[in-house]
Amino acid sequence: MNLHEYQGKELLSSFGVRIQRGIVAQNADEAVEAAKKLTEETGTGWHVIKAQVHAGGRGKGGGVKLAKNLDDVKTLSGQIIGMDLVTPQTSAEGKRVHQVLVAEDVYYPGDSEPEEYYMSVLLNRANGRNMIMYSTEGGMDIETVAEETPHLIFTEEIDPSTGILPFQARKVAFNLGLSGAAFKDMTRFVTSLYKAYVESDSSLFEINPVLKTSDDKILAVDAKVTLDDNALFRHKDLAELRDLREENPIEVEAGALGLNYVDLDGNVGCMVNGAGLAMATMDLIKQAGGEPANFLDVGGTADAARVEAAFKIILKDPNVKAILINIFGGIVRCDRVAQGVIDAYKNIGNISVPIIVRLQGTNADIAKELIDNSGLDVLSATQFKEAADKVQAVLS
Ligand code: GDP
Ligand code: MN
Repeated sequence: MNLHEYQGKELLSSFGVRIQRGIVAQNADEAVEAAKKLTEETGTGWHVIKAQVHAGGRGKGGGVKLAKNLDDVKTLSGQIIGMDLVTPQTSAEGKRVHQVLVAEDVYYPGDSEPEEYYMSVLLNRANGRNMIMYSTEGGMDIETVAEETPHLIFTEEIDPSTGILPFQARKVAFNLGLSGAAFKDMTRFVTSLYKAYVESDSSLFEINPVLKTSDDKILAVDAKVTLDDNALFRHKDLAELRDLREENPIEVEAGALGLNYVDLDGNVGCMVNGAGLAMATMDLIKQAGGEPANFLDVGGTADAARVEAAFKIILKDPNVKAILINIFGGIVRCDRVAQGVIDAYKNIGNISVPIIVRLQGTNADIAKELIDNSGLDVLSATQFKEAADKVQAVLS
């Protein structure tokens, strides 16, 4: 689960990580009130207005703007809220902006150039350890840095039994070329950042940029936080931060039904039990000249109710031109699945796309008979290849 920048920053701050302060606003008037309040707290009259959407690269897309007075705050937040923000990380249609973060301007004008760094904490799956990845090249795409100047990216692996050690925090500050007060502040920054990551059960923190102000303070200007869904049960307060507006509505609905569904761009809907078989089915569809419209794992208990729910989810996608149901009857019996498909088909009514059902495993022959005798416009198959050929036939 991803957090908005403002939520991520609040989380960091609660662990003692210094952040660029800000207040979230739902409309231009709230933004002005937020700016006034920030000015009282921080003394700065300049603010940045930052679109709150789950996508990076907002600056490049025009979703981060500097406001030099309250009129600017009002105009800019009015422009940003409601816009469809297109960034290198969104689709071409962009993401609708529902709220902005009004933040203190921390790039003090007239001062010497502030320094920007990159820092992330993430799991290195190769050895099962968390690591801190950091670079002097902050404020730009880390992918670009990795490609063009990989020697400017450092990593520090953390032993889970000790957590981050003082010498490691100092090494980070040293490699970033810091000294004096900034060096000390960076060791505090990275230590609290790591603690926040571990204690919130996150799977990614990405702070880009981390800023060194001209008065040697280190702070987080941006925050991308991904929480580990499997640990959300022990973070009820964080689970409540979920913003469903940022997620694909069909995926949200499928999730609520306990279906493992990922929306894709193709034209063949798939209903499969088991993630591995679902992946193989997607390959098969591609080989047959189609493109999968989704990944859908109905799980081990593919009973009639789940089959019907899955059908309805797949049919919500207007691009679907055919549906391939590929179920292996191991625990679940194929004849029961077949009956489920037939019942669901009748219950939903007027399904206009062709359906190919491939059932294999326990009672597969009975299942095929049921489908063939159902009188419905459903093609059955027992072999993988046969199913693929039928998909190809209905598509062409
Ligand atoms: P992203 O584009 O989605 O990664 O959003 P960021 O939060 O990283 O902001 C984008 C850019 O806006 C940063 O790299 C900064 O250059 C700029 N920016 C952020 N905060 C401030 C600020 O307080 N003052 C000024 N002048 N620029 C800022
Ligand atoms: Mn950023």
